[in-house]
Amino acid sequence: MSDFQNPVAGFGVTFKAMFKKRLTEQYPEQKKTTAPRFHGRHQLNRHPDGLEKCVGCELCAWACPADAIYVEGADNTDEERYSPGERYGRVYQINYARCILCGLCIEACPTRALTMTNEFELADSSRENLIYTKEQLLAGLDEQMVDTPHAIFPGMTEQDYYRGLVTEAAPGTERQVAVSKGEEPQEAASTTGENEPASGKVVGR
Ligand code: SF4
Ligand code: SF4
Repeated sequence: MSDFQNPVAGFGVTFKAMFKKRLTEQYPEQKKTTAPRFHGRHQLNRHPDGLEKCVGCELCAWACPADAIYVEGADNTDEERYSPGERYGRVYQINYARCILCGLCIEACPTRALTMTNEFELADSSRENLIYTKEQLLAGLDEQMVDTPHAIFPGMTEQDYYRGLVTEAAPGTERQVAVSKGEEPQEAASTTGENEPASGKVVGR
């Protein structure tokens, strides 16, 4: 090819590309829907009454190939209960500067406490902000849930939670939580159902 033809051939490539379908994605103005089983940000799930599913066993941390998870478990007490069993995850952190979103941690979790969401916008300019704490990872509260700490559903055992027998917070749970925080029982009572017990002094079983 002569020196004269070279630039013409180069523009030929440009000319052909002008009529091809554009592949540019208009992110973040237009966000693509992810696949249903997309591996995004993690979530720590709750039982239907609001108690936490995490038992602080650290299996997820041991399964993680990137050493991205840090867990510290602690004992529940009758006065301060976060999960139905003996132990709960007191400290839970995932470092998204390390995480490769492989999902091995969610496979290792024995209680399905840890799952992954479809949220993928995890970029940040600060390493500190990329360490997500338990408060950030814990699932929000549905209508029938009450935030921890609170007692397990009266008459139920830890196993009953996994059998699906607990479907909502027991009547009066809001009152127990409020009383344990030192709030006025009247204030607490206004948020409860009509079946709540007369005394809200008992916290835990
Ligand atoms: S998704 Fe993979 S890399 Fe990320 S925390 Fe879980 S096991 Fe570790
Ligand atoms: S998320 Fe699951 S595997 Fe990890 S500490 Fe909690 S219960 Fe154990």
